[in-house]
Amino acid sequence: MLKSDAARPVLATAAEAEKFMRLALHEAQKSAEAGEVPVGAVIVRDGEVVATGRNRREADKNALAHAEIEAIDRACKVLGGWRLWECELFVTLEPCPMCAGAIVNARLQRVTYGARDPKNGAVESVLSMFELPFTHKPEAVGGVLETECAEALTSFFKALRKKGK
Ligand SMILES: [Zn+2]
Repeated sequence: MLKSDAARPVLATAAEAEKFMRLALHEAQKSAEAGEVPVGAVIVRDGEVVATGRNRREADKNALAHAEIEAIDRACKVLGGWRLWECELFVTLEPCPMCAGAIVNARLQRVTYGARDPKNGAVESVLSMFELPFTHKPEAVGGVLETECAEALTSFFKALRKKGK
């Protein structure tokens, strides 16, 4: 069912965005504790968290087990449909090409991310997927709690290197 622009969903304010990013960071922390690269995501609709996700590539032995994919998968199940146009996603790291593609396919209204990913980011770093003429163009906001989100990653890799010695 298509709805007009007049019925645009309610998106989080800047203050709320920080709150939701902290929840995503909490998910990322769970990944770190499980020995996974810390990336966490939450999907929100009308100010309510509908799904969370975190990186589980090692545990699942699966290249597809990114935080955003898990959150989208769960949100579709919770909401009973594949169109998440009333929802927005918060993720601690700039989405990769696979996840940016999933975000387009799920029709997510907006994506807010923390740290930029100069090696694999598909929103602004390596390419700007949401500016390409696909069927849906999600809004994107980068750099929310960027320092904390980047720090979660750098401290994880630092600890990993220490262990390796
Ligand atoms: Zn990804």
